[in-house]
Amino acid sequence: MNNNGNTNAGMGLHSNSQGFDKAFLEQLQDVYDAETQLLTALPKMQQAASSQKLKQIFQQHLQVTERQRQRLEQVFQAIGQPAEAKTCPAMRGLIKEAEEIMQKQGQDPEVLDAALIGAAQKVEHYEIATYGTLRTWAQVLGHQQAITALEATLEEEKQADQLLTSAAEHNINQRAAES
Ligand code: FE
Ligand code: ZN
Ligand code: FE
Ligand code: FE
Repeated sequence: MNNNGNTNAGMGLHSNSQGFDKAFLEQLQDVYDAETQLLTALPKMQQAASSQKLKQIFQQHLQVTERQRQRLEQVFQAIGQPAEAKTCPAMRGLIKEAEEIMQKQGQDPEVLDAALIGAAQKVEHYEIATYGTLRTWAQVLGHQQAITALEATLEEEKQADQLLTSAAEHNINQRAAES
């Protein structure tokens, strides 16, 4: 957004901006895949959760994730690029961790819920980092429509993280009350 006052800024900005546009596009393709992966992971996590509150959070965030995926398609369109996904290995890993948690047998339901919340928060934090970066790059590159869309998604990811934190507190309190 701000010109950095460098006397080479004119030439520097021009020659770097193509590299940055490419990096921006690659990050978009990565998170487009990440959101798509989540569309299949969240229903499994919803099913594995015991508490109704947590099930509801996963259900709600599934709907939010569908909208976020569509919002990314609008961002691709706004920058004149086709909506293409490029595998996000980080989300693969995060989902794999969630799957390992769900595959463990004979778990105390409240411990399982706590572990699922932790896995989901790792996902949200990854998304917060990604959308924060993309939003800043969109500002620097002057992609106005993209800024608004990425900012909206960033706020939704932060909200999801907060909901998960309150679910974790509720889960622990419940356990304390029962023992
Ligand atoms: Fe998301
Ligand atoms: Zn990613
Ligand atoms: Fe990634
Ligand atoms: Fe999310």
